[in-house]
Amino acid sequence: METTRLEIEQQVDLGPYNSFGIAATAAHFARITGAADLRAALDYSKQHHLPVLVLGGGTNLLFSKGFSGLILLMDWPGIDWLNDTGLVKVACGENWHEFVIQCLKKGFHGLENLALIPGTVGAAPIQNIGAYGVELEQFLVQLNALDTRTGQWHCFENSACEFGYRDSMFKQPRGRHFIITDITLQLSTEWRPNVGYRALRDALDTDNPTPQQVFDMICLIRRSKLPDPTIEGNAGSFFKNPLVSLQKFQALQAEHPDVPSFDTDDNELVKIPAAWLLEQAGWKGRQRGSAAVSEAHALVLVNPGQASGEDILLLAQEMSSSILQRFGIALELEVQVI
Ligand SMILES: Cc1cc2nc3c(=O)[nH]c(=O)nc-3n(C[C@H](O)[C@H](O)[C@H](O)COP(=O)(O)OP(=O)(O)OC[C@H]3O[C@@H](n4cnc5c(N)ncnc54)[C@H](O)[C@@H]3O)c2cc1C
Repeated sequence: METTRLEIEQQVDLGPYNSFGIAATAAHFARITGAADLRAALDYSKQHHLPVLVLGGGTNLLFSKGFSGLILLMDWPGIDWLNDTGLVKVACGENWHEFVIQCLKKGFHGLENLALIPGTVGAAPIQNIGAYGVELEQFLVQLNALDTRTGQWHCFENSACEFGYRDSMFKQPRGRHFIITDITLQLSTEWRPNVGYRALRDALDTDNPTPQQVFDMICLIRRSKLPDPTIEGNAGSFFKNPLVSLQKFQALQAEHPDVPSFDTDDNELVKIPAAWLLEQAGWKGRQRGSAAVSEAHALVLVNPGQASGEDILLLAQEMSSSILQRFGIALELEVQVI
C-alpha cells in the first residue's frame, strides 16, 4: 500500500499558484503527489470541517478573496503508455503542454493543436479544453475521479462527462465534488493534420504539414496573440464566446456586416467571438483602477501588478454589462471565480 508524508501548511500565499498573480491566502494547503496523500488530505478536511478546493496550475481561476478551507495542489505525476496504438493514461498533476510534447515524441497524434495551453492534465476535462478546432473530448476514453462526499472512486466514460463548449459535468454544481486523478486518451499513430481552423491554415505554407510543423505553428500563433502570464498576470480568455440565435445574428450582421462567426452543430445557433464584441465596445487596452484589459487581446483581463481579485471582477462586470447594453448579448465567464 502507498504511504504518505503529507504535510499541511497553514496561511500560504497563493500568489505563485495562480496565473493572475493575485495575492490571496489559503488557510490550509497540501501538495498531493498520489492516492495516499489525497486520502490523508480528505481525512484532515473532514476532521477539521474544511471545504476543499482542488488546484492545478491556477490558470483558469480568479481568487476574489482568500480561501478559508484546504487547498489541494495536484502534483501527482505519471504517464502510462498503454499500448503502441495510441492509448495513454496520464495522471492529473502532469503539465498539459509537457504531455503534448511527450505525445509528439512518441508519435501519438491528435493533441498538436492543443499545444501551449497552460495548466495540468487533471483540469483539462473540467472545461473540455479546446483550441484551433480541436477539443479534449475527441480523445478522452475515460477518467478516474474520487468523490469527496463518499470517498469512492468512479470511472467515467466519455459520454458520462457531458462535455460541451468549455464545459463538462465537472464544471457544474452536480459534478464539483469529484477530484479527477487520471485520464485515458485514445490518440492516433496515423497522422491526419487538423487544419480546418482558418488562422492556422493561412499561417502554414503547406497543405500537408508534419505534426512538428503544426505544433510549432500553434506555439508561434499563441505566443504572438496572447500575453504571457509570467510577464503579465492573466487567465487566458475571461469570457466564453456567446452562442446566439440565427435571428439575433442576422440582426447584428445587418448593422455590422463584418461581424465574424463560427458555425456550431446546431443550425439555429451561431457562435460570435466575444473578443470582437469587446473590441467594438472599445475595451481593448483599457484600464480600471489596478485592473486592465490586455493591449493585445480584448478577451484577456490582466493584472498589471497590484490588482486584487475584486478589481479584476469589477472590471469584468463592467465589460459584460456594456456588451449586454450595446448588443443585448449576455457574456458568460470562462474563468472560475473563487
Ligand atoms: C495564457 C492562457 C491561455 C489559455 N488558453 C486556453 C485555450 O486555448 N483553451 C482552453 O480551453 N483554455 C485555455 N486557458 C485556460 C486554462 O489553461 C485551462 O482551462 C486549463 O485546463 C486549466 O488548468 P489548471 O491546471 O491551471 O486549472 P486550475 O486553474 O488550477 O483549475 C481550474 C478549475 O478546475 C478545477 N480542477 C483543477 N484540477 C482538478 C482536478 N484534478 N480535479 C477536479 N477539479 C480540478 C479547479 O478547482 C478549478 O475549478 C488558457 C489560460 C491561459 C492563462
